Amino acid sequence: MKVYFVGAGPGDPELITVKGRRLLAQAGVVIYAGSLVNPALLAWAHPEAVCYDSSSLTLEEIVEIMEGGVRQGREVVRLHTGDPSLYGALQEQIEALKARGIPYEVVPGVSSFSAAAATLGREFTVPGGSQTLILTRRGGRTPVPPEEDLKTLGAHRASLCLFLSAHCLEEAAAELAHGYGRQAPAAVVYKASWPEEKVLWGTLEDIGIKARQACIDRTALLLVGDFLAGPYRRSCLYHPAFGHGYRKVEKSGG
Ligand code: SAH
Repeated sequence: MKVYFVGAGPGDPELITVKGRRLLAQAGVVIYAGSLVNPALLAWAHPEAVCYDSSSLTLEEIVEIMEGGVRQGREVVRLHTGDPSLYGALQEQIEALKARGIPYEVVPGVSSFSAAAATLGREFTVPGGSQTLILTRRGGRTPVPPEEDLKTLGAHRASLCLFLSAHCLEEAAAELAHGYGRQAPAAVVYKASWPEEKVLWGTLEDIGIKARQACIDRTALLLVGDFLAGPYRRSCLYHPAFGHGYRKVEKSGG
């Protein structure tokens, strides 16, 4: 018996992995982050599974439920929103399980940053544009190292996706504008892949105000960078003049 940390995906229940869905259907105990995981996913849980919403639980209580489940011979699924490796408070759970000798496995998921790009129909790394994606958050009660503050990160002018900052988008946009400039393309995606999804397009100058006017203050990502609007070159990879191990260069006139 094991504890499976399963990425639930960004919201749309069909965006859980095949493996995640199978484990969910088999588990005797399911612990889900009720504040973000779509409850529709629980329809795939085993009818006799005991389900716990972790939003009102402490780490100690969560680990106790996990340990209890495994010791009683049940598989335990811990459903995390998006991908568990991002802002999931995953490490402390893994360490607690290791200390108790309880086996675990992490099953990745589709992160909300991928869902947001899909909604926008944009690629973070277009040829000729930024080849780097910064995933970050604005400092709050959870501190961010000073060298990662938004003014500093903005200096890279890389494609950027800001998590956990929907309540302070105007401040975040102003800080980012130090590096990107106020006219840099920006977008906000609220509840990507959910039925109530909303998309706002703008610049760093106006995106915060637009979000406030749309009453968006949670479950949203701010995306910034030229990838949203800027020019790009076609890829070398699929260019007829660019040969590689899987395709030879086309000879002109041949
Ligand atoms: N592990 C998750 C992130 C958890 S932190 C992932 O990989 O997506 C929670 C933050 O993620 C939210 O504050 C919001 O910024 C973002 N988020 C999660 N789901 C979202 C969604 N469907 N649409 C937009 N942002 C989302």
